[in-house]
Amino acid sequence: MNKCAVITGASRGIGAGIAEKLAQEKFNLALCARQEQSVGDLQCAELEAKYGIKAAYFRCDISDSDARKKTCAAIIERFGKVDLLVNNAGVAPKVRADILEMTEASYDFVMDINLKGSFFFTQLFARHFADQRSGTIVNIGSCSATVASVSRGEYCMAKAGVGMATKLWAVRMAEFGVNVYEIRPGIIETDMTSTVKGKYDKLISEGLTLQPRWGYPEDIAKVVASLARGDFAYSTGQVINIDGGMNIQKL
Ligand code: NAP
Repeated sequence: MNKCAVITGASRGIGAGIAEKLAQEKFNLALCARQEQSVGDLQCAELEAKYGIKAAYFRCDISDSDARKKTCAAIIERFGKVDLLVNNAGVAPKVRADILEMTEASYDFVMDINLKGSFFFTQLFARHFADQRSGTIVNIGSCSATVASVSRGEYCMAKAGVGMATKLWAVRMAEFGVNVYEIRPGIIETDMTSTVKGKYDKLISEGLTLQPRWGYPEDIAKVVASLARGDFAYSTGQVINIDGGMNIQKL
């Protein structure tokens, strides 16, 4: 029987790349995002036709507590057993503002989706994983967990929080045989980075990354697939940087 993966933020970018790769690996998919139901249904129908799997779209704003609870219950009712949760949904601040100017509204917007939303969505599935004594959790964090960008401090703080959440869930879920991982992407070509394309083209050409190219959603998706297969079974609570070697400090 196919295993089942839940992917948040699956409508575009990295999340859509993860959905495609896991479908190729014969996972049944529960895809979550805010896009219209009809658009999500179409994405699922295409994945089903291409890969012969089952896929269902659950429209859910991850920052909405009631929506999270309803979505988790609906997914478990639909698929019976969930094997993998990928917390990928995330946003950048709507306006890049210096931390001297950052608004509380922007802080709340980013924190509610990137940290609070993913933490409490994980809590719901962690209870399911604890009951079944199996499951895997993958958080999509960011290089911004450790790299300070003063024009999007709320994003950095949220991703630093995701780093601790990864450790907390790894510790709590170990007794149930549930492994927890965090992938920290570097500069990945998606809608999120489209507004700063020129800036990063220049930085990459000047040596920002050891591997002189943008990352692509499939770079992240391949690692999720490897974690999902259990290739890193004797490991939990760990961070995997997928950033072209960007995190190495150089002189
Ligand atoms: P993206 O292209 O902007 O896609 C974001 C995804 O999250 C979309 O599917 C969006 O779908 C969904 N989403 C946003 N807000 C949501 C909400 N409130 N509830 C549910 N879904 C929501 O971004 P991306 O680059 O693929 O980013 C994916 C993850 O990777 C994020 O966590 C991001 O922080 C992280 N990351 C990205 C980069 C990069 O360079 N791109 C680097 C490091 C980390 P809808 O709009 O349909 O809801």
